[in-house]
Formats: sequence, C-alpha cells, structure tokens
Amino acid sequence: MDLAKRVKTLTPSSTLAITAKAKELKQQGHDVIGLGVGEPDFNTPDYIIQAASKAMSKGMTKYTPAGGIVELKQAIATKLLEDNELQYTNEQLIITTGAKHALYTLFQVLINEGDEVIVPAPYWVSYPEQIKLAGGEPVIVNAQEKNEFKITPSELEKAITAKTKAVIINSPSNPTGMMYSKEDLMKLGETCLKHDVLIISDEIYEKLIYSSDNHISIAQLSSELKEQTIVINGVSKSHAMTGWRIGYAAGSKEIISAMTNLASHSTSNPTSIAQYAALAAYEGPQEPLEEMKRVFAERLDLLHGLIDDIPGVTCIKPKGAFYLFPNVKEAADKNGYSKVDDWVAALLDKEKVALVPGSAFGSPDNVRLSYATSADVLEEAAKRIKRFIMTHQ
Ligand code: PLP
Repeated sequence: MDLAKRVKTLTPSSTLAITAKAKELKQQGHDVIGLGVGEPDFNTPDYIIQAASKAMSKGMTKYTPAGGIVELKQAIATKLLEDNELQYTNEQLIITTGAKHALYTLFQVLINEGDEVIVPAPYWVSYPEQIKLAGGEPVIVNAQEKNEFKITPSELEKAITAKTKAVIINSPSNPTGMMYSKEDLMKLGETCLKHDVLIISDEIYEKLIYSSDNHISIAQLSSELKEQTIVINGVSKSHAMTGWRIGYAAGSKEIISAMTNLASHSTSNPTSIAQYAALAAYEGPQEPLEEMKRVFAERLDLLHGLIDDIPGVTCIKPKGAFYLFPNVKEAADKNGYSKVDDWVAALLDKEKVALVPGSAFGSPDNVRLSYATSADVLEEAAKRIKRFIMTHQ
C-alpha cells in the first residue's frame, strides 16, 4: 500500500514505544519498573466522576456545539480570569479533544507549506510531528542546560526568518520541568512582537508547580502580548483526567473560529460527557488537586536527591510537571555506551528500568524519568539505576 507522504516522515512516539517494550517484558514475567509514563497515577477525583455519571443519566449524550458547551466555556473563561488575569469571550475559546488536539488543530489552521515554527529543545515529542503534518518546518532552537533549558531572546531572534509563523513556549516544560520567569517571558514576548511572531503558550502543567514561583502566562503581560498569543491548556494533568480528553485553546476570534470550523469537520465535538466532567472539575473543590500536588512535590524531592547523587549523573531540580531530565552522558560513557539511547536500552535489559531517552525530546545526552509513581517504586528504580551505573561494563 502506498501510504500518504505526510505519514511516511512521521516518527512514532518513543514514549509509547518504551512503554510497549516495558509491558512486553512485564508480560514475560520480568519485574519491570516503568518511569516512562506521562500521566498522573492518581484517579480522577470522585466528584468529577459523579458529574459525568449524572450527565449521562440526564441524557447529555448527544452532539454538542463543535467548539464545546457554553457552560464549560464560561467556566474556563472564569478560570482564565481568576488564575491568569486574562479575559476572553466565548468566541475566543474552543474546547478540544485534549490539549494535543488543540495544538494539532491550531497548526492545521495556521501553517502553509514551508512556514516555520520555532520549537525550543528539549521539546514535547508531538510538536515537531504536528508541525510537519501541517506542512510546516519545525525550527529547533537548543536551550542550554546551563541556562536551565530555557532559550534566550537572542537565541530566539537568531532563529526568526521571513518564514517564521510562530514559536512554542511550554512552561512548566515537559520534559525538563523548568519554568520561564516573568522577566524571561517579557523579553521573549518583546522579540515576538518586534518580528510579528505568534506565540503558542502550552500551559498544560500550570497547576503542577512545586517551587515558590507562580505560573505566569505570557499572554497576561500586556494587551499586545495577549493579542499575539494562543494559550493551550486543559484538565489532563491538572485534574488527573488524561483519558477524558478535554483541552482548550484561547486566543483571537479569527484563529478560534477557524479552529472551530475545522473541528466541526473532524471531531464534531469533544465527548459530551467528558465536557460535563470537565465543567465539574473547574467548578468543584480544588482540595484533591492540592493533595496530588503535595504528593508530587515529596516524590520530586526524593527522586531528585537520589538521582543527582549518582556519580556521572547531573540533574537540574525541576520546578514543575512530574519529570526529571538528568544528563547521563558521563555515566553512559563510563558504562561503554557512546549513545545514551543504547545505554537506556541496556538499562532496561539488565535492570528492567524503563526510561525515555532524551533524543526523543531533541536532547540526546539526557533521559526523562517520570515520578508519577509511588515513592517505594522510585526508590527501587534509583537503586537499580545506581547499581547499573556503578557496576555495568
Ligand atoms: N502539552 C504537553 C507539554 C504535554 O506533555 C501533553 C501531554 O503529555 C500535552 C500537551 C497533551 O495533553 P492532553 O493529554 O490534554 O492532550
């Protein structure tokens, strides 16, 4: 079968590949620890599940408007105003099938063949693939580890060409967990305004911040920056709702209306029941989220201490999300692997610990460990990684 060109260049998600390999080993009876996952290990809070159940009983099981139900749009508008000091009307909001599909739809409506989108690396795996699917060129700008994996305004400016359409800012970041400060965002924003580059601000980890820094949306820094920015967010990570598939985009009426039009011919609408669940998530008690955050913060301290202590491994302490992104190049070299990818494969083979190689995120000397699993498992994983580094030849 001669498949379409657009899928021939698609790279399969390596996070899913490592999860599949770990699963296979588990099925063969091996005691595998998987630190590859990108979702909270907590259940969706019960009040959200109850709201979904009630919506089903009440017959909310039909098509909804393509851009989402009005009640949920209003709840999101309230959230954006209260949390981020951002005011949007319903026409400036679209509810999507997860944040991933908000981004997918956005690239489809923005990009013409050959348009460039600047993607700071380390990046979330789907950005470059989604840009390519829309006919665009991802332009990777490597953020320096010594600069906490954040790009500088001059690095951004150097990457801007006449073809640049947009830049992605993901703070807190997957995979690094690092955050841009208000000052950083202001300077990056000025560069974008100067060159008329649209800002795509992926804020999906907004609620999972463990440092004293507050989340800042670049859109809230000025009315010009609000005009220039599309905010992407959703309930997947904040409310442990990855499987419900509810995300959103907020931005100019023109872009949101094009996205809504496209959605009407692709998804029709995000699942009606999940929209009612998300409505309860935004309107209901926030205590379960605080508890989830507290547990993540404890695990971060635990795992960061254990991993950073291993000779040949250096690990910046993340401020948010639920990943560590240590540099293991020295350890891999010492173990006889010139490529960290091969070192990751050997670690899974010998010690049965599954990590995601940093090459998947455009940062080949690092690995990503998710701490969305219990403290006991994290301790055992760190013990095995250390044993592998200290003894494997
Ligand atoms: N953006 C980033 C940075 C992510 O890590 C993820 C999920 O892993 C998403 C977007 C997509 O989120 P959703 O599950 O709502 O599609």
